[in-house]
Amino acid sequence: MTIRNTNNDSPDQPTNHRPIPKVFFDDLTGAMMRHCISCEQDLLENQSPYFIEKAIKPHLGYQAYATIFEYAMCFKCMDTHKNKISKSSLANINQFFMEHVDVSRRQYLVAHELYDDLDLWMGHCLVTDKHVTAIGECQIYAQCLGDQLVMGDYPYMISSEALDAVVNLLSNETIDEFNKLKDELVGPPAFQDLLKDGPRVLL
Ligand SMILES: [Zn+2]
Repeated sequence: MTIRNTNNDSPDQPTNHRPIPKVFFDDLTGAMMRHCISCEQDLLENQSPYFIEKAIKPHLGYQAYATIFEYAMCFKCMDTHKNKISKSSLANINQFFMEHVDVSRRQYLVAHELYDDLDLWMGHCLVTDKHVTAIGECQIYAQCLGDQLVMGDYPYMISSEALDAVVNLLSNETIDEFNKLKDELVGPPAFQDLLKDGPRVLL
């Protein structure tokens, strides 16, 4: 028996990196998302760390789904936007997640390096624990670097039911900021359509 050594295909690949799964691809092109929705830099070419957020209506779990909106945003732009969230909103959001998220379960996944079974990471709503097959609409989140998913705090899924609860915790000030952000990010019409119904949180 020989232990397979590092080959040229994966030179020093961190253990928590996996190829980005299709569910996080650009729905329109069927390829990986390429540009930051805010600064429009090429995320694949620049190797800048970024987040992907997608709102979908799952059917039979992730086997089939309709995409409501999707975007990728670099860390830098995400920071800038997060700084606009009021202190009270941020405190409320943190409190909400501390109360509802089973952090030890995520820590277990990391400790045991269970990076190959995506269902363990996003099969259930992070807040309500409902399985994706029992959810009408949800948002999924990923952290990426180039063409790789960076696993640890991400990926996760939050049902729209839980997101509505989060939105209710936001101050008017923060809701105004989200509305401004919505105007600023001239994305695909579907993106604006969804946001006009109320702010969604960049978590
Ligand atoms: Zn950016």
